[in-house]
Amino acid sequence: MPDLPNLPPPGPVRTVALVMFGLAALVLLTAAYLLSCRIWPYANCTRCSGSGKSRSLSGKAFRNCPRCTGTGRRERAGTKYLNRNKTR
Ligand SMILES: [Zn+2]
Repeated sequence: MPDLPNLPPPGPVRTVALVMFGLAALVLLTAAYLLSCRIWPYANCTRCSGSGKSRSLSGKAFRNCPRCTGTGRRERAGTKYLNRNKTR
């Protein structure tokens, strides 16, 4: 039986390296997301898609969108997270 070439050990070392790489990627992605939430804290309201209006059936009359109270924007999840940390 011939000797096998030197492959990296398939044992726990390799698994740990993979997990570490995944964690590092996750941390980087989270940091990038939170940074983007600091620069662009708001997204369009999902109910009125940013118009801030809730239109009547005729389409002429409208009232303030109840979800965003007429602002047309909502805080992103990361923004809420950042604000929660700020007030603590
Ligand atoms: Zn809205």
